[in-house]
Amino acid sequence: MAVIESWRKLTEEGSVALMRRLFSEVGRDFMPRYAYVIVINLIVASATAASVWLIRDVVNEVFFEKREAMLYLLVIAMAILGVIRGVGRFLATVAMGRIGNAIVARMQNRLYNHLINLGIDFYDRTPSGELVTRMGHNSTAARDVLHILFTAAGRDLLTLIGLVVVMVAQNPLLSLVVIVLGPIAVIGIAHLVRRVRGVALAQFNSFARLTSDMQETARGIRVIKAFNMEPTMRQRMADAIEDVRLRSDKIVHIGARASPLMEILGAVSLTVVTFIAGYQVIYMDVDPGALISFVAAVGLAYEPAKRLARVQIELEAGLVGVRLMYELLDVEPTIEVPEQPQPLRLADGTVRFDKVDFAYDATGPLFRNFDFTAEGGKVTALVGPSGSGKSTLISLIERFYGIGGGRITIDGQDISTLDTSSLRDHVTLVSQDIVLFRDTIRENIRFGRPGASDAEVEAAARAALAHDFILRTEDGYDTHLLDSASTLSGGQRQRLAIARAILRDASIILLDEATASLDTESEHKVQTAFDHLMQGRTTIVIAHRLSTVKNADKICVLVDGEIVEEGSHDALLAADGAYARLYRLQFRTDDAPTTDVREPAE
Ligand code: ADP
Repeated sequence: MAVIESWRKLTEEGSVALMRRLFSEVGRDFMPRYAYVIVINLIVASATAASVWLIRDVVNEVFFEKREAMLYLLVIAMAILGVIRGVGRFLATVAMGRIGNAIVARMQNRLYNHLINLGIDFYDRTPSGELVTRMGHNSTAARDVLHILFTAAGRDLLTLIGLVVVMVAQNPLLSLVVIVLGPIAVIGIAHLVRRVRGVALAQFNSFARLTSDMQETARGIRVIKAFNMEPTMRQRMADAIEDVRLRSDKIVHIGARASPLMEILGAVSLTVVTFIAGYQVIYMDVDPGALISFVAAVGLAYEPAKRLARVQIELEAGLVGVRLMYELLDVEPTIEVPEQPQPLRLADGTVRFDKVDFAYDATGPLFRNFDFTAEGGKVTALVGPSGSGKSTLISLIERFYGIGGGRITIDGQDISTLDTSSLRDHVTLVSQDIVLFRDTIRENIRFGRPGASDAEVEAAARAALAHDFILRTEDGYDTHLLDSASTLSGGQRQRLAIARAILRDASIILLDEATASLDTESEHKVQTAFDHLMQGRTTIVIAHRLSTVKNADKICVLVDGEIVEEGSHDALLAADGAYARLYRLQFRTDDAPTTDVREPAE
C-alpha cells in the first residue's frame, strides 16, 4: 500500500520543492559548516585556475624566451598551488564526511522519534521490513542529496567558473565554441533523469522486500524448517535478490548513458577547438602560450563538467529516498490528543464501555453501541469464539486505537481526555506475544518500572515464581537474553512477563492468556503467578484456562462484537446458554475434572 502511495506522491511533488524543504529543515542548520567547505573550495578552485593560467607564462617565458629565473619562479609557484589544492581537498573531504554523518544521525533520530509516537494502526499496515530499510536508506538519501548539491555548487561549479574565466581571458573566440557546446550536453542528460526516478523507487521497494523476507525467515525459522520450506524460501529470496540486481543494473545503465554523450561532445569540441586554434596560430599570429593555457583549461574543465552533467541524475536517485523519508515523517498520529490532557485519578479502577462504536478501517464495524463493565478490583473474564473482538476490546482500553462513538471510562474519566502516558501507567497489558529485549534478565523485568531497585526486581520475580529458574540460568539475573530469548521455555518467558507486570504494579491488568500448551507443572506455576498478579486489582482477562473462568467474578461471552451473556461460571452453566455450549466445547475434557488446569489445544 505504501508503495502505491509513494508512486502517486512521486509524480505530484516537484523535485525543486522537495530540495527546498530538505534545505530549510536540515541543510540550513549545517550552513556554517557548509560555508567553511565552500570557502575551502573557493580557494582550491582559484588555485586550479591559477595553475592553468601560469601555463601561458611557462610556454612563453620559459619555452620561447628561455628565461631561467622565470623557470624557477614558475616551478615554485606551481608547487605551492599544488600543495594548496591538495591540503584544501583533504580538509574539504573530511569536513563533508563529518557533515554527512551528522545529517544521517539527525535524520535517523528524527525518524525514530516520529515513528515511535505513531499509533498501532500505522504498524498494523506497515511491514516492519520496510521500516528497517527506510531507517537505513532514507536518512542517507538526505545526506546524499545535500552533498550532491553542495559538491556540485561548491566544488565543481566553482572550479568550472574559474576555468571558464581563464578560457575567456586567454582566448575569447574559442571560449565561445566551448560555451555553446556545453548546454547541449545538459539537454541530452535531462531526458535520462525521468527514467532514473522510476527505477530508483522500484529498486528501493525490491530492497524493502528483501529485508522483509529476511526478517520473516529469522522469525519463522522453526516453522520453515519443520515444514521443509527451505526451498520455497530460498526461491523467494532469490527472486527478491534478482529483482534488486536487475534494477541496480538498470540504474547503472541509465547513469552510464550520460558518459558517452559527454565523450562525443568532448571529442567534437576538441576537434573544433584544435581546428580554430591551428588556424589562428598559422594565419593570425596568436600567442601560443595563451592557446596551450586555454587547452589545459578545457582539459581540466572536462571532469567537473561531466560530474555536473550527471548531477541531476544522481539528485533524482537520491530524492526518491528523501521523498520516502518525508512520506514517513508526514504520517500523522491518528489518535487525537486532548488539548489539556488530564492525569488519571484512580479510585477502585472500574472500566466501563458506554455505547462504544468501533471499526477497523477495512473490515466494517466491530462494536456498535457496545456496553461493558469491569468492576474495580474484580476479575472479569472474556470468552468467545476467535474473531469475536476480545483482543480489540483490550486494545481499546489501552487506547491503541481511537473509537468512533461513545465513551470508555476508568472511574468515570473518559480515557480520550486523559494523558496517554498517565493512562498506561495505571494499566498493564500482559499479552500472549511476550516481547523480551536484548538485555539481561534483570533489565527485562525492570522494563516494567524503570526506576525499580534490584531488590524490587527480585521480589517481583519471586512473586511470579521466576526467581528459581532465573538463578539456574548461566549468570542468574545478569544472563543476557539473545534475540527472542529462544533458550527459555514458554512457561519461563510467561513468568518473566508476569514479573514485569507485577513490578509495574498497575491497578488495572489486561491479560491475554496464552493458548499454547504448557506442561502441567509450568502451567501450575504460571497460574499461581497470574493469581499473584491479579490480587486486589481490576483484571480483564481473555480466558483460555478453566481455572480462570471458574474463579472469575464475572464472565462475559462475546460473539461478533456483542456480549450475549454475562454472569458467574455457575450461573451461566445453570442458564445453559452460549457459555454452557462454549464451556463444553472449549474448557471441559472428559478426563479433566474441574480442578484440572490443563489446556485444550487450539
Ligand atoms: P478475538 O481476540 O476475539 O479473536 P479480535 O479482537 O482479534 O478477536 O478481532 C476481531 C475482528 O477484528 C476480527 O474480525 C479481526 O479480523 C479484526 N481485526 C483484528 N485486528 C485487526 C487489525 N489490526 N486491523 C484490522 N482488523 C482487525
